[in-house]
Amino acid sequence: MTKNYIAGEWRVSSEAAPNVNPSNTNDVIGDYARASAADAEAAIAAAYDAFPAWSRSSIQTRHDILKAVGDEILARKEELGRLLSREEGKTLPEGIGEVTRAGQIFHFFAGECLRMAGEKVPSVRPAIDVEITREPVGVVGLITPWNFPIAIPAWKIAPALAYGNTVVFKPAELVPGSAHALSEIIVRAGVPAGVFNLVMGKGSIVGEAMLQSPKVAAISFTGSVPTGRRVAQSCIAADPMKKVQLEMGGKNPMVVLDDADLKVAVECAVNSAFFSTGQRCTASSRLIVTEGIHDRFVAAMQERMQNLVVGDALKAGTHIGPVVDQSQLDQDLKYIRIGQEEGARLVAGGELLNRESPGFYLAPALFTEVSNWMRVAREEIFGPVATVIRAKDYDEALEIANDTPFGLSSGICTTSLKYASHFKRNAEAGMVMVNLPTAGVDYHVPFGGRKGSSYGPREQGRYAQEFYTTVKTAYTFDGNAA
Ligand code: ADP
Repeated sequence: MTKNYIAGEWRVSSEAAPNVNPSNTNDVIGDYARASAADAEAAIAAAYDAFPAWSRSSIQTRHDILKAVGDEILARKEELGRLLSREEGKTLPEGIGEVTRAGQIFHFFAGECLRMAGEKVPSVRPAIDVEITREPVGVVGLITPWNFPIAIPAWKIAPALAYGNTVVFKPAELVPGSAHALSEIIVRAGVPAGVFNLVMGKGSIVGEAMLQSPKVAAISFTGSVPTGRRVAQSCIAADPMKKVQLEMGGKNPMVVLDDADLKVAVECAVNSAFFSTGQRCTASSRLIVTEGIHDRFVAAMQERMQNLVVGDALKAGTHIGPVVDQSQLDQDLKYIRIGQEEGARLVAGGELLNRESPGFYLAPALFTEVSNWMRVAREEIFGPVATVIRAKDYDEALEIANDTPFGLSSGICTTSLKYASHFKRNAEAGMVMVNLPTAGVDYHVPFGGRKGSSYGPREQGRYAQEFYTTVKTAYTFDGNAA
């Protein structure tokens, strides 16, 4: 059984759970420890005790550790990518791509350790200096989802450590393998005991323990809307209150205008809606298409979708891997039924597929004749299910795009500079994509959304310091009043 890493040692837990390959449910990757509330409390206590020394550690030490983590991840990207694809079900190139991203993120934040800076400004009063600096927050609890098993942990752990915080990391139950491998690398890189702790286990036990502990100063969470709300409520109700950052769902629009390059639009839509099996919070599930191109776009999508190979994530040539597990598959199928009941037309896919091995294989589904009020257009499905919504013109398309409780990513395909510029200014989303898929972002710039998608400061890039540090303003009277 694989162990949790608590207070500088690998510890067995009384419970374990199998990690199953969604491409082949006969393939068990291993039995992974399930931490108890007591394990979580031990990890939190260790992180709390380790904080004073780590918060004052040399920036060179932090740099060297994060750099070593990035180096090992990149050196082992094929092997780690295979593990990731095996446990999560995204294709091997997607898995290796995600691992590469994780390595790059550690390298970026290694550099950030050396770029910590403050401000020295004049006071409005005589003979006084004002300094503005950033300090670490304390113990941070990191709660991550299953859809990016290494990149999301990386983009929380790396800045947390870089800015001098200590970490209790709780990965999603479905993907402990990548989290465990990443933790081994972090430990090998030389983090002092207690600075980094891995507690694999259930949200309701380990996650709750983190939310309840007064020793945890901040929680960064990525996951579903209902859990996110609960996390935020606990953090705000806690005494002392915790800093909280949430990344939750999306119902991202992709507008296709009459003047779009049809090929570009179809590639953007297929990538946004179906790659990574539609299991990205930045995926697009609302394709908002203007009258003049609507029928050509739908026909081109149907044709393109026939060439999408759904299969074992580890097999060469697979474009779309399986859905992550039975309960997600049930949810996808439920929404496909709901779409039909609501009067939308299923024009491609949506059926279960048999492959050599038993797995959760679903043909990517495309609905047309969709209205933006339908549940399939309003609620996050988190599967390979896309809807096409017809719009009269650009103005109506923009209105529909913004008419959603979410606001993570928003895309447009057009060859018009006028519309592209207007859309960039008026899309109610944290990220806007022009002639690009709604998913697929850089790692050195901020990531996050608006409305129901996100809460708190942005993640990634330099903006990560907003959450992982707290600002101090220091005043000094230098005695030279004259
Ligand atoms: P998903 O449906 O994508 O798994 P969840 O929001 O259920 O999304 O899970 C995201 C993360 O939140 C997981 O690591 C999960 O274990 C954790 N989690 C679930 N319930 C709670 C909770 N009550 N408190 C804290 N964390 C939780």
